[in-house]
Amino acid sequence: PPCDFKPEEYKSLSGERMLEIRKRNCNPIIMRNTYYKKHLHLHQGYMQWLWDINGRRYLDLFSGVATVSVGHCHPKVNAAAQKQMGRLWHTTNIYMHSPIHEYAEKLASLLPDPLKVIYLTNSGSEANDLAMLMARVYTGNFDVITFRGGYHGASPYAMGLTSMAAYKYPIATGIGCHTTMCPDVFRGPWGGSHCRDSPVQTIRECNCSPDCCQAKDMYVQQLKEVLDTSVSQQIAGFFAEPIQGIGGVVQYPKGFLKEAYRLVRERGGVCIADEVQTGFGRTGSDLWGFKAHDVVPDIVTMAKGIANGFPMGAIVTTQEVANALTRGSHFNTFGGNPVACSIASSVLDTIEEDGLQQNSAQVGTYLLTELAKLRDKFDIIGDVRGKGLLIGVEMVKDKVSREPLPGVEMNEIFEDCKDMGLLIGKGGVYGQTFRIKPPMCITKDDADFALAVFGLAIQRQMERRL
Ligand code: PMP
Repeated sequence: PPCDFKPEEYKSLSGERMLEIRKRNCNPIIMRNTYYKKHLHLHQGYMQWLWDINGRRYLDLFSGVATVSVGHCHPKVNAAAQKQMGRLWHTTNIYMHSPIHEYAEKLASLLPDPLKVIYLTNSGSEANDLAMLMARVYTGNFDVITFRGGYHGASPYAMGLTSMAAYKYPIATGIGCHTTMCPDVFRGPWGGSHCRDSPVQTIRECNCSPDCCQAKDMYVQQLKEVLDTSVSQQIAGFFAEPIQGIGGVVQYPKGFLKEAYRLVRERGGVCIADEVQTGFGRTGSDLWGFKAHDVVPDIVTMAKGIANGFPMGAIVTTQEVANALTRGSHFNTFGGNPVACSIASSVLDTIEEDGLQQNSAQVGTYLLTELAKLRDKFDIIGDVRGKGLLIGVEMVKDKVSREPLPGVEMNEIFEDCKDMGLLIGKGGVYGQTFRIKPPMCITKDDADFALAVFGLAIQRQMERRL
């Protein structure tokens, strides 16, 4: 649809008002720095497209940080939301209502046994907070382990689990949280390669190569050392994203997670898969990222794509772990909101009816294959990786040094893409990775447009360097 922006509707945000706010610097929500040099003031969205207040259209390859799973304002999801809004908005979880009941059954049917008990929250941070609480109460232990470079949220517990300098404050959030090296085969010290279980193994195939196995063993050894030498020997849990998202779409060597789960369980801990980015079919081959690692976690945390951008999170766990939480059955005012549950139900239906998981696999594989060609062409693309529509393009000063591309250059490419109508994301522990996580409804034509724009932006950056 064309953009229907009407300036008169936005009187409160007229240029003068914005200036006034900026001068007084008094509204951190409106005035906080955003992704681009100039605010990108969005007005409208439809499926994979966004429009700004000037009517400019953008192809959205970031989906509000891997969140708009089935498409902006998807008609089926909109209809489900509207229907529920006309019926019942809110109850709190002290009452039962049909949307929560239906959603819990649907979600539980999509997870393997014994993961059948569901708690609903409002965000991924809250889901990880609850998972941490459960792990500690269930095991009676305190120490938790995460990967360096992992992101698990911004609430005090979740910030403790997060291990990225950019998101940490020097306050006591991480008591009992310990880290182990992320098995990053591109940037880590032991080489290796990415392991894919996709039928089309186009990039750095691993089936599994000896160097990869060797890297895996070294990272397992690291974890073992952390477990044996630097924690209390009473492990509550191990948190890991099946593919590290904000950390730069980092994939682990085949078999690593399975070994890690074994070591943690041997020491009494539970294993938590943070599926906030990897869940709901984004990786293409499976609905959940943990499946590709041949593991079954004790707790799975979810958010982002769960409700196509409506605030919602969830954890799914076993009856045994859930039984540990007895006090008030973990009260949560907004978790399990009827409108959120109706939307989330409709998201699950839409993923199936629109074939979005298969689309993720197909368009994702195409994008990965074509991006690998750009990698071979340009010296500043160090690595292309990911699975389905969860893709990272790691930028380097040059292929030999593998030093991260400086932020100034990253931003130039990033702004160029936006100016040509393409929205992508940034990430990585040094801010060196472009992230591609579009709504799962994008087509091959969209992918071609994105590749043309991205390729041109890189070409221009190479020319600026001369
Ligand atoms: N876990 C992961 C893997 C995430 O990427 C995020 C958000 N980027 C979170 C947890 C936190 O989710 P939220 O922002 O909804 O609190």
